[in-house]
Amino acid sequence: SMEYGPATESAAEALAWLVDRGDRFGHFIAGQFTEPGDGFEAKNPATGEVLATLTQATPAEVDAAVDAARKAQPKWTGLSGHARARALYALARLIQKHARLIAVLETLDNGKPIRESRDIDVPLAARHFYYHAGLAQLLDKDLAEHVPLGVCGQIIPWNFPFLMLAWKIAPALAAGNTVVLKPAEQTSLTALLFAELTSEAGLPAGVVNIVTGDGAVGERIVTHPGIDKIAFTGSTEVGRKIRTATAGSGKALSLELGGKSPYIVFEDADLDSAVEGLVDAIWFNQGQVCCAGSRLIVQEGIADAFHDRLRARMAALRLGDPLDKCIDIGAIVDETQLSRIEGMVAAGAGEGALFQPDCHMPGRGCFYPPTLITGLSPASTLMQEEIFGPVLVSTTFRTPAEAVQLANDTRYGLAASVWSETIGVALDVAPKLTAGVIWVNGSNMFDAAAGFGGLRESGFGREGGWEGLMEYLRPKGTAKPLKPLALAERADKPAP
Ligand code: NAD
Repeated sequence: SMEYGPATESAAEALAWLVDRGDRFGHFIAGQFTEPGDGFEAKNPATGEVLATLTQATPAEVDAAVDAARKAQPKWTGLSGHARARALYALARLIQKHARLIAVLETLDNGKPIRESRDIDVPLAARHFYYHAGLAQLLDKDLAEHVPLGVCGQIIPWNFPFLMLAWKIAPALAAGNTVVLKPAEQTSLTALLFAELTSEAGLPAGVVNIVTGDGAVGERIVTHPGIDKIAFTGSTEVGRKIRTATAGSGKALSLELGGKSPYIVFEDADLDSAVEGLVDAIWFNQGQVCCAGSRLIVQEGIADAFHDRLRARMAALRLGDPLDKCIDIGAIVDETQLSRIEGMVAAGAGEGALFQPDCHMPGRGCFYPPTLITGLSPASTLMQEEIFGPVLVSTTFRTPAEAVQLANDTRYGLAASVWSETIGVALDVAPKLTAGVIWVNGSNMFDAAAGFGGLRESGFGREGGWEGLMEYLRPKGTAKPLKPLALAERADKPAP
């Protein structure tokens, strides 16, 4: 294994946690772990080491998870909002108590810098449970005319495994739903740790069920007649499939998909802050962030100076062992994603000018250097397609109107950043941008109380805040999503 220096977080506690469980995991159904079966390996992308073996859920196991959630749902929703709040507060407290274990396990499994999992992902996840505990408490009084949807199927990606779990589970439970959640096959370990925490928090069996496996397991969840709502975060391509598969089924649906978010820098911006903001926008989590500021749109008069500053800053970024607290850039999640990034850059970079600093590259593992590509035409593939890696593309504009036109020239609409010291300019441009979330002189600002989500091909529905909670409720007396029987009856008829 690796040599760990003094600035490196020890993996010992997380590895011991895995060893204690025999390095093999089944699913978490009805409050118990099932026997491990045939499956796949969880690997550390920074080293290639196998961390554990996981089980590919069979259709019968998905059915069992849905059954458990169905059985638990009336009892869970029958509790007062205060009682549900107590359980959510307990979960939030346990996340804080085990914060280091969760953070290290996440970093081992995903490759993200420990500084990020420890300071950002895990605290935000705890905050999400605290916030939704608060909402659960308000529910009895403020939303007495609403009822939960029932059983929610939740499918999450590998880029923020624990945080996305929190974004999905906290509002669903606060509203009185029960869940069957499938983590991404690349990164399931912290979800299995969370399963244990639900028992420790005293959650009734069946309220949270976790099944592991690949897209086939996801499909089984999506098409399962015993599920009332699907919540998905991941690629636009899979989102589209899920929308087709749920059409006409009566299932509620929310989708949080890809992005190619613009980062607009006006010539009067505070350039040092704008460079730091950009480092966060595109190199946070190796750029594997749905709302990454991956398209720099910089005003012509300052473009060269800004690119120079940016290149100097890039040369100072440290890439390496994700457990090292001093590194800025960790590992890419797996070889598939690494070769996807390499392939896109190889195919398109020739249309512009490529810069990669001469940074130290570890001898093994899935690493990709921070990359800047300037001089691309707005219609080029790299300007249009999500790369989902540490690759920034850049173009220039002259007038605010042109900045808006370039920013909106995409099929996505998740986030946008606007940088200017003239508040009038920023506030004039911001509402003209087609994006679900817009930051002024900032990037990647997340809060449990603020709704997050996209427009256009970035999806629909919001997560977080009051709006996010409403995605898990319906007004009393309105049609419940189709009953399982009704759905089965119409299985061979075309969708209306
Ligand atoms: P993906 O969309 O294939 O996987 C996301 C989740 O969906 C995983 O849990 C996966 O098992 C599941 N899934 C896959 N096929 C499914 C199906 N047919 N039905 C139901 N569930 C299914 O994402 P990926 O392959 O891991 O990454 C591909 C690309 O997606 C990335 O390059 C990136 O562009 C994008 N992505 C976006 C986000 C985001 O947060 N918006 C996150 C991860 C990946």
